[in-house]
Amino acid sequence: MLNLVLFGPPGAGKGTQSQKLIEKYGLIHLSTGDLLRGEIAQGTALGLEADHLMKEGKLVPDSVVIGMISHKLDSNAAVKGFIFDGFPRTVAQAEALDELLISKAAPISGMVALEVDDDELERRLLLRGKDSGRADDANPEVIRKRIKEYNDKTAPVAEFYKGQSKFSSINGIGSVDEIFAAICTIIDKWLKK
Ligand code: AMP
Repeated sequence: MLNLVLFGPPGAGKGTQSQKLIEKYGLIHLSTGDLLRGEIAQGTALGLEADHLMKEGKLVPDSVVIGMISHKLDSNAAVKGFIFDGFPRTVAQAEALDELLISKAAPISGMVALEVDDDELERRLLLRGKDSGRADDANPEVIRKRIKEYNDKTAPVAEFYKGQSKFSSINGIGSVDEIFAAICTIIDKWLKK
């Protein structure tokens, strides 16, 4: 199995690249942000709990997202692999993911981080907010909170995968196709191993 963690701050381009990667490699896309927005749209208790935190740009509790991912892994048995997008966002989530994958005998193949500076992220998210309909994209204060959450709680997840020699990073500024090609080069190396 090919299990990729696509990593980077909000606005780095993870969603865009995931769409291209699922097509090329036949993977299942697991985006905790999309799953949470689905819960909100359905008005579930979980969605209600997550909604106010997301509107403030804060992370939702680890137990909530780990539970969602566990469920999705179980309901997608016998697949070529997964792209984890927006997950894990804390070291506790990364540890839980390793545990979940042990039972599937299919560990994380590696992490690819998209590097984009904070000013460019803020610019991209404000632009995306014009037509994404996402409340958390349109507001500069919430955007800055999301970037701060990333720097405080999520950036250490890179160290976790560096410790396992599973970390790669690429420049996330450039054309969509250039960035895609750089990610594919890394994945193709893993596949040759
Ligand atoms: P995203 O679509 O990945 O930008 O996520 C949007 C929002 O959903 C984040 O700002 C968080 O509030 C929440 N969220 C998504 N994924 C996670 C996660 N793995 N852990 C905690 N909160 C998350």
